[in-house]
Amino acid sequence: MAFVITRSCCKDSSCVPVCPVDCIRPAGAPGEYTDSEMLYIDPDTCIDCGLCMEECPVDAIYSEDNLPQHLERFRDINAEYFKRHRLVSNIVDQSEIAAGDARFEYAASIRAINSAHD
Ligand code: SF4
Ligand code: SF4
Repeated sequence: MAFVITRSCCKDSSCVPVCPVDCIRPAGAPGEYTDSEMLYIDPDTCIDCGLCMEECPVDAIYSEDNLPQHLERFRDINAEYFKRHRLVSNIVDQSEIAAGDARFEYAASIRAINSAHD
């Protein structure tokens, strides 16, 4: 399961900095305009934490399982974007995310998953 951005996205980029796995693109700074029609979530990288959904001012983000029927097509639209633009993470070292930061718990779990696969 992943989260999905839908058509009401206003490109304010509020969701980008809260994503613990940096899988929302294009990635501009909050308030920065992007040339893209909307932003997209990479379904293969999303860890379903829901932090982006809480941040979105226009309720454009849904859990894949709760997508309204008329927005179903955005599941493929998000995935297709990453077939054309391979995700390159800007997170150099997730240990740089400080304890107390809302992303800390998730970053820690990602590190645990990654080390289990090493
Ligand atoms: S649900 Fe979490 S991991 Fe997925 S895009 Fe949103 S913030 Fe990132
Ligand atoms: S927070 Fe919502 S409106 Fe803003 S860029 Fe993300 S999905 Fe689009």
